[in-house]
Amino acid sequence: MQDSAAQVRTLKPVDMHVHVVGNGARNSGCWLRVRGWRRPLAALMLRGIGLPGDALNGDLEGFYIARLSEQVRSSSLGTAVILAQDLVYDEQGQPIKELGSFYVPNDYVLKLAKKNPEFLAAVSIHPARPDALEELDRCLAAGAVMMKCLPNCQNINCNDRRFQRFWERMAEAKLPLLAHTGGEHTLPVVRREYADPRILALPLECGVKVIAAHCATKSGLVDPEYFHIFVGMIRRFANLYGDISAFNVPIRGRHIAECLREPLASRMVHGSDYPVPVHGHWAWLGGAVDWKTFRRWERQKNILERDYQLKVAMGFIPETFTRIWSLLRLSGS
Ligand SMILES: [Zn+2]
Repeated sequence: MQDSAAQVRTLKPVDMHVHVVGNGARNSGCWLRVRGWRRPLAALMLRGIGLPGDALNGDLEGFYIARLSEQVRSSSLGTAVILAQDLVYDEQGQPIKELGSFYVPNDYVLKLAKKNPEFLAAVSIHPARPDALEELDRCLAAGAVMMKCLPNCQNINCNDRRFQRFWERMAEAKLPLLAHTGGEHTLPVVRREYADPRILALPLECGVKVIAAHCATKSGLVDPEYFHIFVGMIRRFANLYGDISAFNVPIRGRHIAECLREPLASRMVHGSDYPVPVHGHWAWLGGAVDWKTFRRWERQKNILERDYQLKVAMGFIPETFTRIWSLLRLSGS
């Protein structure tokens, strides 16, 4: 019985890049610090997912999880992989609290995944932490399916030789790494140059299955272009993948046509980057979907579903939406 239940689950499409945020209102341990021009942007994102704009100061985590869970359950998706967010650390492994804009503890996503069958937990561990290896083992035992980090925002030089043991342990445990690549404008950036996908060479050499979030595409007009570097690395590393998250925002979707072709097509995995807004205008303007498709899905209020359907309409092969099942660490849960 259990086998067939697991099989049904593995056939369902997955959104493997879903953020959770909180303000500690329900003792989640989460915090959020949104300053200046990012404040109206954050309120806009919350309204986009159907929350009141002032939820930032209220029961944010209660609203957020209820809404997210309802959206996953009423969508074509079987599961959403929800992401923790570690602090920024310096090279000596000291946390730099004033640099991060939000924090989501590993225990929070692990607990949510235990309670809600529609969620799987991706933990976040800065490898410079003095307790990085212990935290990794603890999270593995608690059912983590993936590890998430943002080298440019969290100050992680993945190629630092001191982290080799950490990557080797991840490879041994078959825990995949989802790492942000390319420019970033929603969160403050600490080291711009770490947006380069070459920052992921050491974990790849250690045998970790690595997913480059956003396929290293640009997010701002003046960001350096790393997409061609990512494509070169796909040819070099059989264990490198790319996620198509946030392809429904301006600029990032410029390389959709290349992502639909080999050698990329068979390495793509689907994610939305929820709660990042999803609008089909850019895909329609760029010729990736037609007018009717764009109009049809623009009316869909559930942005997880809207994003999924737009990606299907763009022509991503069905495996794009289920491939992640072969990369996640499911045995420990
Ligand atoms: Zn993201």
